[in-house]
Amino acid sequence: MDIRLDAISHSYGDTEVLRDISLDIPTGKIVCLVGPSGCGKSTLLRLLGGLERPSAGRVLQLGSPPEGCLNPLTYVFQDFALLPWRSVHGNISLVLEDHGIKGARANDIIADVLARTKLSDFKNALPRQLSGGMKQRVAIARALAVKPAVMLMDEPLSALDSQTRELLMDDLVTLWTRQPFTACYVTHNLAEAVRLGHQIVVLSRRPGQIREVVEIETPLAARGHGDAELERTQKHLWDLMREEARAADEELLDV
Ligand code: ADP
Ligand code: MG
Repeated sequence: MDIRLDAISHSYGDTEVLRDISLDIPTGKIVCLVGPSGCGKSTLLRLLGGLERPSAGRVLQLGSPPEGCLNPLTYVFQDFALLPWRSVHGNISLVLEDHGIKGARANDIIADVLARTKLSDFKNALPRQLSGGMKQRVAIARALAVKPAVMLMDEPLSALDSQTRELLMDDLVTLWTRQPFTACYVTHNLAEAVRLGHQIVVLSRRPGQIREVVEIETPLAARGHGDAELERTQKHLWDLMREEARAADEELLDV
């Protein structure tokens, strides 16, 4: 199932946040959205997920969700959003219970997503016993458990320290390489975007408009450190963003 944004604009009262965004999220690809703080990235993700209706334009779901999909559009948040009193297993079983899936069927799904996120040994742990990186892996496992058509990831690594972020990026690459998933991945971190994005969509400052869409052909698993082409791409993205980020920063100081 592909998602298509067709001429989306959005305002909150008098504040125009997004202007005329048209974009496809193709099946099996990771589309990264980058742009300065306040340009409307989280808003765009909420519109994608149907949490809000756009002021203008349409969000279209093209084709059918994958087999066994319980929730086509599933969020992964920066702050993990785990229930502290439930174990790793319990946090995942909860979303399955919501769809009436229990017992052996639930256990099979949970075992599969824990194996894919390398958490099998931690299924009985409570969130407070886990590092930030592992908590986010639990949140990703929980999202995968509902077999989403598209994962909507809002700065999923931004709460983590830089070393943990590196490890999680590697984990996401492995996860995708073994079994491709579809994601719209919001980040303000350009290193994440060039490591994980098949497509990188650069938004301007508010009202967010598409400035450029950059495609990266290099397979995710082949994107090592020190790759000259990726560094050039990252520099190009930063050149695009610098002006927008500076102007956005100065606009914030005006209010
Ligand atoms: P980003 O995620 O790119 O930092 P957001 O989408 O969170 O940006 O916000 C874009 C703009 O919309 C900001 O100026 C923010 O203050 C405003 N905004 C976000 N949500 C609301 C809301 N529910 N009501 C009013 N304004 C909002
Ligand atoms: Mg945001």
